[in-house]
Formats: sequence, C-alpha cells, structure tokens
Amino acid sequence: MGNKTNIQNDLPSSNSFLNTADVVVVGGGLAGLSLSILLSRSGYKTVLFEKEKYPFHKVCGEYISMESWNFIEDLGLNLSRLHLPIIQKLIVSAPDGSFLNTPLDPGGFGISRFFLDNELKNIAIENGAIIYDDTKVSDVLFKEDGFIVAFNGGRIATPVVAAAFGKRSNLDARWKRNFMLRKPGKLNNYIGVKYHIKGNFSEDTIALHNFKDGYCGISKIENECYCLCYLTTAKNLKENNNLIKKMEQNVLYKNPILKKIFSESSFLFSAPVTISQISFDKKMQVENHILMLGDAAGMITPLCGNGMSMALHSAKIAFENIQSFLDKKISRDEMEKQYVHQWQRQFASRLSTGRFIQKLFGRELITNLFIKIIKYFPFIIRKMIRQTHGKQF
Ligand SMILES: Cc1cc2nc3c(=O)[nH]c(=O)nc-3n(C[C@H](O)[C@H](O)[C@H](O)COP(=O)(O)OP(=O)(O)OC[C@H]3O[C@@H](n4cnc5c(N)ncnc54)[C@H](O)[C@@H]3O)c2cc1C
Repeated sequence: MGNKTNIQNDLPSSNSFLNTADVVVVGGGLAGLSLSILLSRSGYKTVLFEKEKYPFHKVCGEYISMESWNFIEDLGLNLSRLHLPIIQKLIVSAPDGSFLNTPLDPGGFGISRFFLDNELKNIAIENGAIIYDDTKVSDVLFKEDGFIVAFNGGRIATPVVAAAFGKRSNLDARWKRNFMLRKPGKLNNYIGVKYHIKGNFSEDTIALHNFKDGYCGISKIENECYCLCYLTTAKNLKENNNLIKKMEQNVLYKNPILKKIFSESSFLFSAPVTISQISFDKKMQVENHILMLGDAAGMITPLCGNGMSMALHSAKIAFENIQSFLDKKISRDEMEKQYVHQWQRQFASRLSTGRFIQKLFGRELITNLFIKIIKYFPFIIRKMIRQTHGKQF
C-alpha cells in the first residue's frame, strides 16, 4: 500500500471499497496533477494515484514552452519568483558538427520535473486533492455508468476516471491499446536518457545536437544546472550491447560538439534516468469511457519541445468537460465526444508535424544536408517552430 496524504480514512483491505470520489486521476505527472488542482479547487472530491514516490526524476528535456507560463501561475505556482532561466535561442547541430543558430519565438523556460511535479503535488494537496503516491493502479472497470478502480491495496468507485499515466503504462498493456500491438517501426521503440550536468553553456539557449538515429537537447534549469536529455532508437542501444556508455562513445561522440560536452561537463547523477519503448504512434483520446490526458492521449516528439504544454493544456480541456458532466449539464456521451473533438482541434496537426520532423531527423546524411541548407531560409525554420507550438491557454 502506498503513501497516503491528505486523506481522512485509511485505505480498506483488498477487495473492499475506499468510499467514493467524484473523479479518480491515474498518474501524477503534469496532466494528472494540473487536472487534480483544477477539480479540487472547484470543490470536487478528487483522488490521484501515482506509482512513484514524490519527489522523483523523470526522463524529460525540462524545457517548457512559454505558452504554459500563465496557466502554471494560475494553478498556484509563482514562476516569476523562482528566477528561472528564460530560453529564447535555438542551436541545432548536425551529426557532422555543422550547426545553425536561430531565435526561438515565443521561447520557453527551464525547470526540473523533480521540482515542478513536487510543487504541483503540494498545491493539489493544499486545494484538497487526496494523493496516493507509491501506489499503482492495476485496472479500471466500467460498470453500470460508473467505474471501479483497482490499485495495490484496494478499490474505489467513481463516476469519472481520467488516465494521465504518460507515455507507456501497465494499463496500456492490460487494455491492449492499439499502439501497443504495432510492430517496431519508424515511430516507436525509442529510448530516452537524461542527466543533470554543470558546464559552460549559454543560459538563454536550447541546443539540439543530432547524431545517428537520435538527438540530444541541452538547456538550463534551476540551481545553475543544465538538463541533458536524448532520444534514440532501441536498435542503437542493442548494437552497443545494451550499454549506454558504450553507445554514447560510439554514436553520440561522432558529433564533435556532443563529444566535447560529454568530456568537459560534470555529471550530477551517479547513473542516468532512462525510459524505453517510447512510441509516437497515434492513440485514442477516450478508451472505454476513460478520458486520456497528456502523453496517454498522444505523444509529440520531444524535438518539438512542447509535450509538457500539451499535457497541461489537455488537463484544462478535460476539466471543463468533466465539470459540465458532474454538474449534469451534459451527458457522458457528450463529455466524451466534446473532449475528443476539442483535443483533436487543438493538437492533431501539431502531432502530425512532429511525426514528419521526427522521420526527417536522425538520418545522418539528410540531417547534415538539411542543417547546411535550411540555415539560409530562416522563415522556414520559424514556420516549423510555429507549427509545433500552440498559443497561451
Ligand atoms: C527524451 C524526452 C525528452 C523530452 N523533452 C521535453 C521537453 O524538453 N519539453 C517538453 O515540453 N516535453 C518534453 N518531453 C515530453 C514530456 O516529458 C511529456 O510530454 C510530459 O511529461 C507528459 O506529461 P504527462 O503528465 O502526460 O505524463 P508523465 O509526466 O509521464 O506522468 C505520468 C505519470 O503516471 C504515472 N503512472 C504510470 N502508470 C501508472 C499507474 N498504473 N498507476 C499510477 N501511476 C502511474 C507515472 O509514474 C508518471 O509519473 C520529452 C519526452 C522525452 C521522452
């Protein structure tokens, strides 16, 4: 059984019910936590389950596009007071080391997930949300117009479940979601690796360094640290005996800029944070009456740099529909249809552009050529950046 926070009753023994909740949220990343804050401060009894124990590190480049600034502040986190690095320039290097420099409009800011998720968890609790960390949801069943959520330690009944369990979860496998059944291809089977480092980098710049079948982002976060995070194929790792260090030396170091960064920076973790089996394939936004949020609804490729903003924005859209349903202004069917419609209107074309760019990058020769040519056409670069970003919400 997990850690309980802000809960009046002890969890019941297995197979009995933990009273009820207006909404159960599965997964306490950005989507799940922001939804819990919005719901609990509007007076709905909200229970969130997170399988890890806060605070914890997560594979993520930790660059948030500016579109989310006001929303996060409105949730109750005073970003202005944190003196976070503001990032307004982009450098992209090709595997051969040639590079381009461009302004990043509207840009973003850097903040670690270790800090941000924990702060949002605290705000959710202050607003009355009941949070169980270190507690994994094992299944969600829809029955007679309501749900039973099973977790390690008990079950809970609720009329609404929001699934915000990220890129890949035990529940994706349990529900045999479509993207899990696809064969390994160009849009799935990626791995992510993250370090926090210290070194001599520019504070207002996010750098994206390409290498064979992958790219590595570096940008500043809080406490004079930088986040170094890369995405590559599982094949690259396998060809290097599944050894991360060996892969870095044999593949990433071929880009001379990356070799210099890895050799000259101080690495703050004893081992990197890693994740495997990442898929950018299409997903459904509602599964068996459960609203899917954030990466669980569809994941944009990290090189577009705004998966976190999409996770936050999807929570806002879900909240408005859940509220109308709980207040009996719309039916369950209307809630689901409206959510899917609004989600697609907001994110579908961004995801397609992301998939297109993902297919382009990583191919060594094409990327080398692309960087050499595209730097003479800044308006195309600006257009690509615009198409993968949204407006403030
Ligand atoms: C290599 C890489 C780099 C990236 N860089 C950036 C970047 O720089 N900027 C950006 O905006 N985006 C970036 N992203 C994307 C970004 O990390 C995600 O889009 C974002 O974290 C999605 O938030 P979420 O709330 O949907 O999921 P998450 O933050 O992943 O949260 C899901 C949570 O659900 C929990 N969970 C899973 N299963 C269960 C269960 N059964 N029961 C209970 N809890 C469960 C997990 O432990 C997790 O904490 C990057 C992604 C990758 C892979």
